[in-house]
Amino acid sequence: MTPHMATLNRKYFVLVSLPVVSLITAVVMDDLALGQRFDHYAYDFFYRLEGPKPWVPESVILAIDESTLSRYGGQFGIRNAVADGLEKIAASRPAAVAVDVILADQGSPESDARLEHAFATTHNLVLASYLRPDGSWENPLPRFRKYAAAVGQVHAEFDKYDMVSRDLPLAKAAGPDRRWALGFDTFLAVKGLKITQESPDSVALGPLTIPTFSGEEHSIRILYAPPEMGGIPRISIAELDANPALAGRFAGKAVFAGETVQGRDSWMTPYSNLNSTPGIEMNASLYETLSRRFFPVDASALVVLAVAFALGALVAVAYAFGSVWVSNLTAAGVILASQLIPPAAFRNLVVWPWLPATLTSVFTVALAATWRHFAVTKDLARAEQQRERYQRAMQFVTHEMRTPLTAIQGSSELIGRYGSMPEAKRKQMADLINSESKRLARMIETFLSVERLSAGQMELKRERVGLPELVERCAERARPLAERKQIEIEIANMPGAAIAGDRELLEYAVYNLLTNAVKYSPSQTRVRVFGEDEKGDRVRLCVEDQGIGMDQKEVGRIFEKFYRTKRAEQSGEAGTGIGLSIVEQIVTQHGGSIHVQSAPGKGSRFTLVLKRAS
Ligand code: ADP
Repeated sequence: MTPHMATLNRKYFVLVSLPVVSLITAVVMDDLALGQRFDHYAYDFFYRLEGPKPWVPESVILAIDESTLSRYGGQFGIRNAVADGLEKIAASRPAAVAVDVILADQGSPESDARLEHAFATTHNLVLASYLRPDGSWENPLPRFRKYAAAVGQVHAEFDKYDMVSRDLPLAKAAGPDRRWALGFDTFLAVKGLKITQESPDSVALGPLTIPTFSGEEHSIRILYAPPEMGGIPRISIAELDANPALAGRFAGKAVFAGETVQGRDSWMTPYSNLNSTPGIEMNASLYETLSRRFFPVDASALVVLAVAFALGALVAVAYAFGSVWVSNLTAAGVILASQLIPPAAFRNLVVWPWLPATLTSVFTVALAATWRHFAVTKDLARAEQQRERYQRAMQFVTHEMRTPLTAIQGSSELIGRYGSMPEAKRKQMADLINSESKRLARMIETFLSVERLSAGQMELKRERVGLPELVERCAERARPLAERKQIEIEIANMPGAAIAGDRELLEYAVYNLLTNAVKYSPSQTRVRVFGEDEKGDRVRLCVEDQGIGMDQKEVGRIFEKFYRTKRAEQSGEAGTGIGLSIVEQIVTQHGGSIHVQSAPGKGSRFTLVLKRAS
């Protein structure tokens, strides 16, 4: 695998794994209580941010407050208080009156009679029933019930962690006996509507369809009056007593009569800052929710996840392929988008959970940035290594060049200085100058050819080069080096094939493999060179040694420019780490390939597969 492929693979890994990991984490978190906590807080936040603007309420609360209770003698006086209140507002003709007071037991005969009388003259009376903990209904006495247009339930639903009531069930069942919410019954009575159809996720009232959740119970989210409205208008019975003119404020309204004493039957709303809202106001709010058609629906889970994944994927793509700027901007954009989508959705009455996209984007950005940090550090280390190797190689190359240059310099100086030099000596020096400058020229020529070849600036020569001759000539050149280490170069089974190519370059390649084999082998070993006809038009040439060898990781890198193995450096053999990179280029330029098998301490085999000349 080339380093380029390695980075690509790494990129695809990042590309796929990051958003997937982030999304899974986000989904798991979202499913946990903590995650839901965050989604709820976010809902409250968007509710306050994007929530409905003030409106003119269609309901009024007839409040039984502290002063009403003290005026009527506490809890025992409630029935008298309600009767009084109803009598006082009757002339204003309210659209309906919902009474959220327990009327299951007998009160004093006079107060029950008064209340019954008041109920008898009330238009669209809706009474309350309570679901007892044992699962049965606590109903109003029949003497009251008979005047009621409906008996609703006043079950409150709240979050078990923060006590905030965000939604209410429209229906509650105790066995087969199912009741609708007090506010809902009041709405039906006032608007003259009936339930025409029910499905698990909706309730239809003729042309008006209410989207609901939680199946049979048909929960809906509640529209609470924003703080600027100061809640649903509230007038207490005590105030009415003191100022009967206030009765006019109930004209044509849906009236909700009930206790507003702080701390009793009261709940938190998304608006409340630790101030609770009395149960009666929740019923009135349900009424307002229905009459204002405030029906936010949940965004489809699939869409939410798809968007979260898309955001994560965008980040991964930017980090894998984009520049630093592109990826940073994308990261910022994606995180911003994950924050803008939920409120924008809320504005369109779609409840979009905040957590999945937020977590997915933040996680992906964090992971991608970490990945990049490490990748960059690694690349830097690599570049630094390469620079060091390059420096060492340059030192070596200049050193190599200095040797022939010194010889040439010295000889030419001598010739110039001593005019009366013996002819034989002069000839010897001229020959030395000649051979050393040729060596220098060859060195430079090879480097330049290969650079030009790989840059595509040079046409490869195509001559017939006989394989046995090529090998023989290279072996001949390498033998003096081998003999110094008492290494035998053995040529075996050489097919008589010819190769079409550049003789000089091919010679450079084979000679390099041979000298490497000699350099990286201990003395008194053997280097074997052998060939084989391959299938098709190919021929194989192997150079095998019994030398220091390499491990797999090193084999993967020896064709990099300037790379040398630790073992090679410790061997004391001089080298640049350039040779094999040139060999590889030469071989590929000839349409061939090079393969290496090696084991540390055992030896190596370099195999060239080349095209035969036709
Ligand atoms: P040089 O020999 O100048 O260091 P090369 O490019 O020819 O550069 O080789 C690169 C490296 O590959 C060598 O430094 C050595 O570590 C390793 N190598 C090449 N040939 C052999 C071999 N026959 N046995 C063991 N290691 C080898």
